[in-house]
This record gives sequence, C-alpha cells and structure tokens, in this order.
Amino acid sequence: MTVTELLSYDAALAAYDPVMGLEVHVELGTRTKMFCGCSTELGAEPNSQTCPTCLGLPGSLPVVNAIGVESAIKIGLALNCEIAEWCRFARKNYFYPDMPKNFQTSQYDEPIAFNGYLDVQLEDGEVFRVEIERAHMEEDTGKSTHVGGATGRIHGASHSLLDYNRAGIPLIEIVTKPIVGAGERAPEVAKAYVAELRELIKALGVSEARMEMGQMRCDVNLSLMPKGSEKFGTRSETKNVNSLRSVERAARFEIQRHAAVLQSGGTIIQETRHFHEDDGSTTSGRVKEEAEDYRYFPEPDLVPVAPSRDWVEELRATLPELPRVRRNRLREDWGINEHDMQSILNAGAVDLIVATIEAGADSAAARKWWMGELARNANEQGKGLDELPMTPADVARVAALVAEGSLNDKLARQVIEGVLAGEGTPDEVVDKRGLKVVSDEGALGAAVDEAIAANAGIADKIRGGKVAAVGALVGAVMKTTRGQADAARVKELILEKLGVSE
Ligand code: ADP
Ligand code: MG
Ligand code: ZN
Repeated sequence: MTVTELLSYDAALAAYDPVMGLEVHVELGTRTKMFCGCSTELGAEPNSQTCPTCLGLPGSLPVVNAIGVESAIKIGLALNCEIAEWCRFARKNYFYPDMPKNFQTSQYDEPIAFNGYLDVQLEDGEVFRVEIERAHMEEDTGKSTHVGGATGRIHGASHSLLDYNRAGIPLIEIVTKPIVGAGERAPEVAKAYVAELRELIKALGVSEARMEMGQMRCDVNLSLMPKGSEKFGTRSETKNVNSLRSVERAARFEIQRHAAVLQSGGTIIQETRHFHEDDGSTTSGRVKEEAEDYRYFPEPDLVPVAPSRDWVEELRATLPELPRVRRNRLREDWGINEHDMQSILNAGAVDLIVATIEAGADSAAARKWWMGELARNANEQGKGLDELPMTPADVARVAALVAEGSLNDKLARQVIEGVLAGEGTPDEVVDKRGLKVVSDEGALGAAVDEAIAANAGIADKIRGGKVAAVGALVGAVMKTTRGQADAARVKELILEKLGVSE
C-alpha cells in the first residue's frame, strides 16, 4: 500500500473549508422484509429466510410492508421533513452477486420525506443545524463471505458464499444537504449528527440502530473549498463507516488527505473509499458511478405510496420527545453538568437511571450505583449495562435499603455483587449473606465502649481536642462489627461518649 500524504489538520483548516455530506442507512426493526413476508430475525441458518420475491425469481411480485412505510414517515417527521403526498419506488440497476434481483428497489426522484433538519448538540453545548435533503425507503442486499484467503477479502479467496437472508430487509437512507460552515469542527459535527440520529431512531422505536451490528451505517462524503471560495470541490465518499468514532476519524483523515493533494497541485477524483479501523486511514475503492449509470426507472410492480394527511398527522402525534430535548431536561432535573451527562450517555445508562428513579430511588443514588459499581462490573465483563442481571427495580431496592439505614455503602456493594452473582433479589442476598447494618444501639454502644477501652491513648487525645483521631476508633468499631455498622452513627456515639463535640 502506498503511503498517503497528509497535511497537518491545522494547516488544512487554515487553507480550506470542509464541505460534508452524510448518508446514513438504517435497517428497520420490522418483523418481515420490505417487499415480502420473510422473517428478518438475525442469526438464522443462511438462506433459510428467503422466498421467490426476495430472491428475484421470475414471476414473483413484491408488496410494500406497511410498517416500513409508517417507520419512514415517522423518521421523516422527526427530522422535520415534508412528507410526500404521493411517491414511488424506483429500480436502481446494477449487478452485484449479493443482490439477487440485479436491481435494488429504492426511491429516486420521489423520496417519501424531504427538506428537513436535525439540530445536534456539540460537546461544548453549541447547537449546530444539519439540513436534511431526503429520507427514502429501500431494501438491503444479501451478504457475501469470501473464504480461503488470508484477509476475508475477495482478493486471494478460493470461493465465496452468499447468504440472502438480509436481502430485502427494509432500509431507510437519510441524506444530508451539504454541510458547510462547520470549519474545524466538521468531524465533530459528523459524529454528533450520527449519534443524535441514532438516539432519535431508537426513541422512535423503529430500529435498535446498533452500529456494531450493521443496523446503522454511514457514508461520509467530503470535499474542500479554498478559504473564501464558495464553489464546492470534488468529493470523496468513504463507505460503510460503522462506529461514531470512525465517522469522526474518517472525516478528519479525508480533510488532511484532500488538503495534501490540493496543496501539491493535484486533483481529487470522485471515488468511493474504504475506511480502515486499525489506523484510521482510507484507501481508494471504485470510481463513482453517476446516477445515469444506474438506469433508474419507476418500479412497475409496486403501486405508488400516497400517505393520507390524516395518517401523517396521526403519526406526528405519536412522536416522542426529541432525545436532545429530553437529555437537557434530565440533565437539569438531575443537577449535573454536560460532562457528567455525556459520560452517562456514553455508558448507555440514561434509560436505566430514569427507570431506577421511577422505581423510587433518588437521582443521585440511581446515578451513583449505575455509573459506579455496575459500570465497573459491566466493563470487566465486556457487557452493556442493560445486559447485567440486575434490574432498575433491584437498584432502587438497594438504594432504599441504604436510605433507611439498613445498609451502608460498603454492604450495598456486597449486595450488588450478590445479585450480579445470581444469589437472588437484594433482600434475599441481604438475608443469605447476613448483611445488615448493626443498628441496635445497645450492641453498637457496647462495641464503642470496647473500642474506647482498648485504645485509651487515642481516646485521651480526642478528649484533649484532637478530634481527627476519631477515625481510628471508628475503624476499630467497624472491624468488630465486620463492617456492618453505620460509620456516621458510630462516630457520633464515640464523640458523645467522650463528651466532645465536633
Ligand atoms: P450519491 O448517491 O452519489 O452518493 P447522494 O446525493 O445520495 O449521491 O449523496 C451525496 C451526499 O454528498 C449528500 O449528502 C450531499 O449533500 C453531499 N455532497 C454533494 N456534493 C458534495 C460536495 N461537493 N462535497 C461534499 N459533500 C457533497
Ligand atoms: Mg452515496
Ligand atoms: Zn422473501
């Protein structure tokens, strides 16, 4: 591989303004495919979820999936788009082995949703408006696996396997207008946009939008204009970028690469490029087709889609609160800063915390357990928080036991450990492990007397005014009670008995 020349990021931005276009494909979570009744369930035996329609056999006829159309309208509305009164599907003709019909059923000049925008919030709180060109319906292709080579690529493989289970799964493609004016923040805007879109799709309930599972994929188009110019340069299109971090890196790399080419007097060719996760670079793919190459024409086997205005308004009324608005509302309710909110978001803990609060915990306790003990545990096991065998109701119960003084933090951590180990509910773990704060004042008083007697020297110091020394006595009591005392109460008792006030 030839080494790609890059200009430093700062030098690139000093000379050029980036223009970006983001195309995001979202696989809908419908039960069946877009144009047939085949299941979309993941993990099935290859080619077990196919039929004449999604295999493109002669004589088969497609039928539009109503939930697919409904999901597309919801996405369009949430992106502030106009919804077409009438639109059609179109055939996008090209040959590819994983596309059994030799055309993809898509939409061309008549998308179901167009002309919208999505406001995204950057890390410092600034809001950037990304304008949406269109959102249209189409179908996914099958999947090729190249076998026998070292790299899993077709090059060097001895043969290829094709699985058409994915062929025909509904996709919504969301295309932005050219994003200008982001300057050096362009990569950050790209990442924030995809993140916001993902949250929105999840909130709409139309897809789980898991990028790591290919349910959401992004193509990053990028070009540069010399500073002061308003004429767009030639773009490159980096395909199938599959994580938020990669979206940001791909944009950054392309800015530096374009700048190096342009500055040395070269020209950018319009081409697709592949992104490489390992070093964040892109390499040349194929020279870009023009729309003409696809010989688009209206799909003759499907009736046009003409959503009634009543239906559109019904769907509009079901839209959830926008993720950005919800996030800001929760952040204020919880009284935390942007940075802490971002960590909660990154940990995927927002909904779990909300549910824990709904189950009765106060927000500080809910955040503390999810972002502390539970996040640590999830991390160690390489799992998501929502995959831990502990529910928001369990966490709320632990928080309640702490609030009523039955558990201190140390014991609460042991309870959580027990629940995660499958020992039962929080109450069952408390019973089985005998974890309860010693709150019997008599027993506690005796333990305190004992500690004072055994540490007469320290007790004298405290009486003499060295209150800080009380920690040693608290430690002694905690030891005799095996950690099962309320440390704050122990401290109070010691000072009381020594006749000292803090
Ligand atoms: P294609 O199917 O050829 O990729 P699309 O119109 O679907 O074309 O998508 C192109 C994307 O690139 C859109 O988001 C568009 O706004 C953006 N775009 C168009 N021209 C430029 C350019 N010169 N520089 C950067 N982005 C561009
Ligand atoms: Mg494209
Ligand atoms: Zn089918």
